Amino acid sequence: MHARMTEIFSSIQGEGIYLGHRQLFLRFYGCNLQCSYCDTFQKQCPPQCRVELSEIAGNYILKDNPLDFEALLKIVTSYPLEQHHSVSLTGGEPLLHWEFLKVFLPVLKRTGLKVYLETNGTLTKELKELLPWIDYIAMDFKLPGSVGGKEYLRGHLDFLKLSLNHDVFVKIIITGESIQQELLEYIKAIKGISTSVPVVLQPVTATTEREIVSNAFLMDLHRASLEILPGVRVIPQVHKLLGYL
Ligand code: SF4
Repeated sequence: MHARMTEIFSSIQGEGIYLGHRQLFLRFYGCNLQCSYCDTFQKQCPPQCRVELSEIAGNYILKDNPLDFEALLKIVTSYPLEQHHSVSLTGGEPLLHWEFLKVFLPVLKRTGLKVYLETNGTLTKELKELLPWIDYIAMDFKLPGSVGGKEYLRGHLDFLKLSLNHDVFVKIIITGESIQQELLEYIKAIKGISTSVPVVLQPVTATTEREIVSNAFLMDLHRASLEILPGVRVIPQVHKLLGYL
């Protein structure tokens, strides 16, 4: 079994409600969506995967893609796993690699590591295949304006329903173009499924091409969201503020 990977590294979780926890990140190649703000998009799978040396932060070696099962396991177990809260399956969209993960995760779990899935929340059938080995789920709800006007709400809700007996939270990316009415419709729909699932509004990180989301706009969206679902919070991408991976 092989997996197409882009990066493996140890860092802090910079998003959502597990912010600040140390994680071992396995970044898989490829995604089924094309978000306007994507910061991991790569047209083609890189011929080599970048692997951070476990003993020297910020130093990397290259491993040929695709990585085989044994090579990936060897890399993972070279890190001081006891210092890590969990292994983060990220991407791209890691659920595209469900066939590999269905074999890999049961072996990985023998190390005692918890598994944290970062997902765009659209591949429900694939999630079902892996749920027994997943501990935490950070799932997106994509507002139509972020994904070329496409509507994924129904799929997100099915995904959320399936995730509810796990430790799940929802993340919604806010850009300067986000539409309040769409956001509130999504928050209402989440509330219709669960009033206790944490919901995070994540303002998109500013870049040279993209301006910061204004405070007034974000606070207005937050206030309106709180009227529907108390507890909705705003958390930016902290690793990006620090200049970390
Ligand atoms: S779901 Fe994530 S990885 Fe996929 S295109 Fe959107 S931002 Fe990029």
